[in-house]
Formats: sequence, structure tokens, C-alpha cells
Amino acid sequence: MNYQANLEQVTHRIRAAEQRFKRSEGSVKLLAVSKTKPIEAVNALAELGQTAFGENYLQESLDKIAQRPDLEWHFIGPIQSNKTKPIAEHFNWVQSVDRLKIAQRLSRQRPPELPALNILLQVNISQEDTKSGFSPQELLEQVEQVTQLPNLVLRGLMAIPKAETEFDQQRAALAEMFDLFQQVKLKLRTPDFDTLSMGMSGDLEAAIAEGSTMVRIGTDLFGARNYAL
Ligand SMILES: *Cc1c(COP(=O)(O)O)cnc(C)c1O
Repeated sequence: MNYQANLEQVTHRIRAAEQRFKRSEGSVKLLAVSKTKPIEAVNALAELGQTAFGENYLQESLDKIAQRPDLEWHFIGPIQSNKTKPIAEHFNWVQSVDRLKIAQRLSRQRPPELPALNILLQVNISQEDTKSGFSPQELLEQVEQVTQLPNLVLRGLMAIPKAETEFDQQRAALAEMFDLFQQVKLKLRTPDFDTLSMGMSGDLEAAIAEGSTMVRIGTDLFGARNYAL
């Protein structure tokens, strides 16, 4: 795997989309999604200057964090409520907070000696039964309660829209997310609320067109995942 070529190509796509859609240069961050990939792959990208990594599976991620506590780790997978403690103890960010109860548990379980945990609320923007997340309505009703939790900083929203292959179809759900992000931002009026995490290998450009500030890229950095391993 030529990690350098992959990282250069993804970085180039991000910069090109920023220019094309009149986003300021450097306004879109890259999260490298290393789920199912070995620590060697993480080390290779870290060597090239990548600092933020995303993980979906708890046990696998704890092993990697133990080896590279110097990196910034984002939990992006589904969260069972009995698994919140290790997540609160070991991650810097949790992007997949999908209900109020999870936020409450993470706040309670965040060790007091660590900085507040950065969280994003996951929104089920395409209203799919198979995906978790707040509905837009639940989000608007409950977001203020989340901001009152002491050991968390609400940094923004995350979404995994329904997969579409056509650019214009991809843009529709992403535009709805941006709208919702702006609504919540106006409601909260806090400078901490600065992150809209959307865009993956297949819809990075559309996400940047619609205001994403963080794209989460796995396949195009690390190659296809082999879940059979
Ligand atoms: C796996 C995953 C990604 C990365 O997807 P790719 O299509 O491989 O770039 C991004 N976000 C989440 C939440 C994921 O689970």
C-alpha cells in the first residue's frame, strides 16, 4: 500500500474541493478512518503527518490507542450503553453520540483529570431504520440539555447520509445537514460548536460543497477493508 500517494491524493481532493466550492483553504479537516487496519497502517500515516484517526470497534481501537496515545482518537461507531466507560476514558472525541442517554453516561464517566470530551451528535438525516442518530426534531428539542453536561464539549454534528452515487443526489441530504447545523449554531451561540463531520471516500466533494468541516476517509487512504480477517 502506498500510503504517501493515497494521503497526497486525498489531501489534493480536499484542497481542490475547497477551491471549487469557495471554501477557505484549510477549513476542511481530514479524519483517517483506520478501522480493521493494523497499527502499522496508522503508524505509516502518522509518519506522514496525519494526526487524527477514527475507529468504530472498541476492543480494536483500545489496542491501537495504547500503542499511540500521542495521536487524536475519534470514536465513530455505534455505541452500546454498557460500553461508554472505556470510550469516555480513552478517546479525545466521540462523533457517534446518538441519544441523550449516551451523552449523559459519557459525561459521568469522563475521568476528571482529563480535558472535557469533545462530542458530536449523530443525526439520522436520511431517516433510515438501519442507522442510529437523532432525528432533526429530537436534536432541536434535546441539544440544550447536552450542552449542560459538565464533562463534555459539544463541538457539532455528524451524519452518514444514505449512500448515493450521483453528485446532485448526494448533495441533497448533505445540504439538509448544513441547514440543521446552522439552526443549532444560532440557537446555542457558542464558539465551541464549530464542526460538521460529513463526507466519506465516495462523497467527499459533495460534502465539502455543502459545508462539511471534517471528512472521514477510510478506503481511499488505507485500501478496501477485509472484514473476514
Ligand atoms: C467506515 C466509516 C467511514 C469511512 O468510510 P470510507 O467509505 O471507507 O471512506 C466514515 N465514517 C464512518 C462513520 C465509518 O463507519
